[in-house]
Amino acid sequence: MREHLPFRAFVGLGSNLGDRVGYLSLARQGLEEHPLIAIKRTSSIYESEPVGYLEQDWFLNQVVEIATSLQPSELLAVMQGIENRLGRKRKIRWGPRVIDLDLLLFEDLVISTPELTIPHPRMYERSFVLIPLCEIAPDFLHPDGMNTRTHLQRHLETRGGERIRLYQG
Ligand code: AMP
Repeated sequence: MREHLPFRAFVGLGSNLGDRVGYLSLARQGLEEHPLIAIKRTSSIYESEPVGYLEQDWFLNQVVEIATSLQPSELLAVMQGIENRLGRKRKIRWGPRVIDLDLLLFEDLVISTPELTIPHPRMYERSFVLIPLCEIAPDFLHPDGMNTRTHLQRHLETRGGERIRLYQG
């Protein structure tokens, strides 16, 4: 079934409500169940301080590398289907959510449409994206020609002290 999945992409997962580990697992399962998606690598789970709206619990975050033959917009639709199935309610921007799936990178594409921006517009400011991404794909070349390790180094030199730790369960 999964003979030809030519494109490499990275998806960020986040949850800060309810059974957070369970929601990350269900999100990975949702991706893996699609016949045109295979998960190639999975980062550790990290726990990070909320940004934006602070009156909420810490997030669990993880990044997965997938192989797919879907186009970026089709992949985004699959991701949104998973969010909806798992019951995400959009109440407060940057507020609590059972699950959030972000399309971080798709090959070396740059996309800017009303529905989809790749690379994900805020990924280079977020330790909870760059740290797990660097764990599984340090040498991946981003569209600007720099690899993940360089992006993380630059971010760590300038970041404003967001707290993040490895999640121990
Ligand atoms: P959020 O509530 O932060 O998950 O944002 C969801 C909205 O962001 C949806 O309407 C998407 O169409 C849009 N969006 C734009 N670029 C991306 C991306 N790279 N990954 C996920 N959602 C995106």
